[in-house]
Amino acid sequence: MAQARPEADWVSQFADDVIAEAERRSPGKAVVVASGLSPSGPIHLGNLREVMVPHLVADEIRRRGVACVHILSWDDFDRLRRVPADIDPSWAEHIGKPLTSVPAPPGSAHPNWAEHFKAPMEAALARLGVEFRGISQTQMYTSGAYVEQVLLAMRERNRIDAVLAEYRTKPGDDDGASGAGYYPYKPYCSACERDLTTVRGYDDESTALSYVCACGHTETVLLAEHRRGKLVWKVDWPMRWAYEGVVFEPSGVDHQAPGSSFVVGGRLVSEIFGGQQPIGPMYAFVGISGMAKMSSSRGGVPTPADALDIMEEPLLRWLYARRRPQQSFTVAFDSEVHRLYDEWDAAERKVANGTASGPDAIAHGRAVLTAAGELPRTPRPLPYRMLASVADITTGDAEQTLRILRDSDPSRPLASLDEVRPRLDRAQNWAATQLPADQRTVLADEPDVSALESLTASERAALDLLLAGLEEQWSLDGLSRLVYAVPKLQAGLAADAPPTPELKAAQRAFFGLVYRLLIGRDTGPRLPTLLLAAGPERIRKLLAG
Ligand SMILES: [Zn+2]
Repeated sequence: MAQARPEADWVSQFADDVIAEAERRSPGKAVVVASGLSPSGPIHLGNLREVMVPHLVADEIRRRGVACVHILSWDDFDRLRRVPADIDPSWAEHIGKPLTSVPAPPGSAHPNWAEHFKAPMEAALARLGVEFRGISQTQMYTSGAYVEQVLLAMRERNRIDAVLAEYRTKPGDDDGASGAGYYPYKPYCSACERDLTTVRGYDDESTALSYVCACGHTETVLLAEHRRGKLVWKVDWPMRWAYEGVVFEPSGVDHQAPGSSFVVGGRLVSEIFGGQQPIGPMYAFVGISGMAKMSSSRGGVPTPADALDIMEEPLLRWLYARRRPQQSFTVAFDSEVHRLYDEWDAAERKVANGTASGPDAIAHGRAVLTAAGELPRTPRPLPYRMLASVADITTGDAEQTLRILRDSDPSRPLASLDEVRPRLDRAQNWAATQLPADQRTVLADEPDVSALESLTASERAALDLLLAGLEEQWSLDGLSRLVYAVPKLQAGLAADAPPTPELKAAQRAFFGLVYRLLIGRDTGPRLPTLLLAAGPERIRKLLAG
């Protein structure tokens, strides 16, 4: 790492190193950073870090006015390994074919399996402001772009084998070794399209390659003209580093163990392909908490699109920007997302009034802005927690939602729900898809007569104090003051008296009473929000004696 400047965050530090290294390796050329994704099934939200880490570094490089290309390699020429549980089991006949040769799942509008799973990821990345150049490995291999590199790897197969042998720990590593000798190239069978092939021999002079397939097909092809096959992964990755001149490509922990593809690739890229290993930090796992099964788009796997259904793009970017790649963190789908939004709103306020620390201001800037421009923002970012509660209580009814939100701040009444979009839409999606059924808020239609008849005199008096102040305090702030003041007034204290343990216990008991009478539960959305949502008439009907 370069000498860290105190105001520099991890993104700036990598950008310093990457620019310097790119200038050393290929002066005057655009900097190349890379990500790789396999569209073998729904692309898990956990894989977003593979793209976000290089994206943030690329974006910082572009902000400095240095040309930078972020390539996203789609490993769509890889074999289909397994059929996800929610797909027709008859798709098993396609196992072993390249992902672009497998039909898309039933009902898909896309031409093949790989395109079907790529499309939602591309859409999510566009929403997140990630600018990239997608490279289809099917297109590269089948067009012959890598022919020279493939022939080179085959000529140098003994040296490659010797490097791999230094790291091999178990037989059967999928690196091209077989009883018939070592070949780093794996053809797809021209009869059955699958890769159940074994290379039987290769002639360097003529490039004649013979293989046998498990389906019984045998064939001899000219490798110089062959287009249906690829280098094995551990050779393929370093070949592409050299081919594209990649200077920065992070990878997950599984690629960085001793003998892993990153380590072996570092040897092969320089010893065989005449290139250099990229700067490649390891990034830590991103966890997911509380994803409700029903809302996952496909097969219970949370995707970036699922996250963007319930949170705004800048918030999701912020999660990645503020953590170093080696720090793990969690993307919350449960009510933890409310706390996350509180934290985000607090950070925004600090940035707005100039009190944010250097690193916090930088992370915020990376969340809301790219070199290409600003991401969509909500003009009036009312608290997500409140929007989610309103969505819960109104089940999304637009008219009621507007009334409640307008009442919440009479000094600045909301003119239209558009002012609180897109945040409102995300909070409504959250309430509709992530809020467990037993936590949904249902306002009582009729008063609980027996409960009202059995109130103590003090409870009755507390409810009457609340009812007496309703109209005058009809705003979110006013109702907040009112509900906290009721137990104080009952104790003969001023409405603004400081809290004591006794007062806090009395407040808890009072809130519990109001919740039970309004929604039949001991807890619920914050009480002022609930009161606003219920409206004065409904409250009187349910609380009056
Ligand atoms: Zn075959």
